[in-house]
This record gives sequence, C-alpha cells and structure tokens, in this order.
Amino acid sequence: MLSLTERGSYTACKTVGRVGLCRAVFLLLLCLSALWLAQPVLAAAPAATTTNVEGIRLWRAPDHTRLVLDLSAMVEHKVFPLENPERLVIDLKHAALATSSSGLKLANTPIAELRSAKFDQDSLRIVLELKKKINPRSFILARNEQYGDRLVIDLYDRDKQTAKTVSDVLAGQKMRDIVIAIDAGHGGEDPGALGPKRLREKNVVLAISRAMQGMIDREVGFRAVMVRDGDYYIPLRKRTDIARKHRADLMISIHADAFNQASANGASVYALSTRSATSETASYLAKRENRADLIGGVGGVSLVDKDKVLAGVLLDLSMTATLESSLDVGSQVLKSVGGVARLHKKRVEQAGFVVLKSPDIPSILIETGFISNPKEARRLSQPAYQQKMAKAIFSGVKRHFQQRPPVGTLLAANKRKSGVVHVIARGDTLSDIAHRYRVSISDLRRHNRLKSTRIKIGQRIKIPVST
Ligand SMILES: [Zn+2]
Repeated sequence: MLSLTERGSYTACKTVGRVGLCRAVFLLLLCLSALWLAQPVLAAAPAATTTNVEGIRLWRAPDHTRLVLDLSAMVEHKVFPLENPERLVIDLKHAALATSSSGLKLANTPIAELRSAKFDQDSLRIVLELKKKINPRSFILARNEQYGDRLVIDLYDRDKQTAKTVSDVLAGQKMRDIVIAIDAGHGGEDPGALGPKRLREKNVVLAISRAMQGMIDREVGFRAVMVRDGDYYIPLRKRTDIARKHRADLMISIHADAFNQASANGASVYALSTRSATSETASYLAKRENRADLIGGVGGVSLVDKDKVLAGVLLDLSMTATLESSLDVGSQVLKSVGGVARLHKKRVEQAGFVVLKSPDIPSILIETGFISNPKEARRLSQPAYQQKMAKAIFSGVKRHFQQRPPVGTLLAANKRKSGVVHVIARGDTLSDIAHRYRVSISDLRRHNRLKSTRIKIGQRIKIPVST
C-alpha cells in the first residue's frame, strides 16, 4: 500500500498546457546537452565586437588538465584535435589575446607548448602542442559574482584501460558483485496495509524480502543489502540513502496493496514517472549543495563549476538512463511475477514515488498483491508463497542483469569471457590477433581448435581470457 508520504509530491505538468511546456523544456535541455557533449563545440554568441582573452589559467587534476580562458564577453568557439603531431586547436571568433601565456606552468600537464595566432581575419587561434593524446571537452561558463565569462577546456587523460585488452582488465581487478538493495516497505509505527486476521503489510513484505535476501546471497555474482531488517520505520529519503551508501545497482521496494473493495487483487510493478522525475531533479538541485557527489557516482562528471542549467541537464540525462534501466528490470520482474500471481496491471506502471526517486540507482516498487483481498492475504502470509514470490522477483532481476551486467562486475566479466569474438577481416593474421589481445598463438589455436594458423575472412575467432 502506498500512503500519501510514499506517493510524494506529484505536481509537475498536471495541465495539458504545462505538459507541452515541460516536454519542450526537456527536449531543449536534451539538445543543449547534446551540443555540449559533441566535439567540436560551437557555442553561439553574438560577437560583433572583439572579445578579449584577458587571462589564461591552468590546473592539473588527477585525471585531467583544465585550461580556463577568461573572456571579456561570450565568444563563439570551436575546439578540435589534430594528429601527427598531437595538437588541440581552439578557435575563437572575433577575439584577440590580451594576456600572455608565458607564466603557465606546463610541467605535469599533457601540454608541451601553447601558441596563439590571428586566424581567419579577426579570429584567434590557440594551439596546444600536446605530449600525448587526450580527450578534450570544452564548455562556456557564464559570468558570476566571482568570475567573468569563461571558456573551459578540459584535457582528459586517455583512460589507460581503453588500451588494455580484455584479459588485462579481467586480471587486473577483482570483479565485484551486483548489489541489490531490498527495501521492505513500512515498519515500526507504520504497519502499511492491514489485512484480515491482523495481517500487516510490514510483516509480509519483510518476510518476502528476507526470502529474497537468502536467494540473492546464494547466487554467485550477486549480493543483497537489506534496507530495513527489522520492525522499525525508516524515512523514505533515508531508504535511498542506504541503498546509495552500499553502492546498490538496483533498489527493490517491496509492498502489498490494499483497497476498500475486497475483490481487488493482483500484483503490480512500478517505476518512477519521468514527469515527476524532472520536477524532482529541480528540487534535488536546489537542496543539494554538493551536487558533485550525486553526479560523481553516475557518469564521473564533476559539476562543481558548471552552471545550474548544465548541472540540471546532466542530472536529467542520468535520471533518464536510470529510468530506462528501471523500466527494463521492471518489465523482466513483471514477466516472472506473472507466473506466480495474477497481474493487477499488465505493464510497468509509472508514478512519482519518493522511494523511487534516486537519480543514480535504478529502482522499482513491487506491490506483491492485495492484502485486503482475503484469498490473496492468505497466500501472502504463507512462507511457501513468500518464497515463490521472492524467487519470481529475483529471477526477473537476474535476467535483467545477465543481459545488461554493470561494468566491473563478475557477471560482466563472465559475459565478456564467453562473448569476446574477433571476426577475421582482410589482412588479419593469427599472430596479429594474438598480439592485439595479448594471448599466445597456441592458446588461440587450442581455444578455436585450429589445425593450422591459416584463417579466412569472416571467420569468428574466440578470444581466450585468463582470469
Ligand atoms: Zn506499502
């Protein structure tokens, strides 16, 4: 059952007109983010007069180098890399350099030298001579109390892992379990729905949760975390916090329904509604001073010095991705639960439940049945049926993760292990492939039962992986 507090505030876009507006704003934000993510970046700004680059600042962070150009006004710019030798070109339209770059400390940065020149009549070109390949990212920051307009160019170190082979990655790190946070609804002074013979939702859902915990912990590659493990109440926000603290890959909130008509029956699965997600994003942003923490767990993108709109866009994107996962796992669970219970709703329902409003953890809420229906209440109170329900939920969850294992997990490793196949292209030789994947030719031959080193175009070669 969902009390008022569980439903949370569902106020966004209730009228038809506002639905349109919200969608438009959302799409606009998506477009903005697409622009921002695309390289090279073009930021439109009227620049009839010359913009001065008044300062150049440089920082070295553990994984990237940040170059900031202090500008007298907004500027239209373009950033693109050039190869042989490695360079990064920054073109600024209608701009001039009004400062010197000679004081910059380039040691420990990927920049060997910084040059600038007039380019294309009144445009300014700044060229960074690079010591090594980097991944560039640039964005404009509007003036605030402290700084004027800025162009920020982040030079991300190439992730060493991208150059690694599968076996390196597998051998180099311990594969983690997929963490499932099980949230038994209600508890303590909040009994939830009440059924016949003093049957209480809080007790039924805790029993189902515990049954599922046992199954998850017995499954290789999975680990369960109980959000509530006794008869006490936890505020809704605190529940998602607990899941986050344990770095859960999924949060499952278990409930049982009630309705004033005893005939109502069946199970349902819920995911968060996008509409309330977007409005919640806004309130998250307003409430959270430390936005970086929130986003840091999602895409590794620091929002510390990005403006609010951009932060909102990124948070929206991460929430959209999370929602997609929630809907997928939800539909898998619905399929399995449909095998043991009648389904109250045939598809994953979406609503603005507070307990599902975690932007970084896919979350679903399951109403396991109607405790107000005498027949269903009896079933829900039986340990055998609780086991059956728990098993059905977990088998849906398992299917979801087998298809989409999170990076770094044992499941992902196993999938890659059995799934890395190299399709022979023109010019490939077995020794090339052995070299590329850092395996021996004899291992390749043995693994693929090759009688000789002869291979043909289109042939599929399985790559052996040592863990
Ligand atoms: Zn409930």
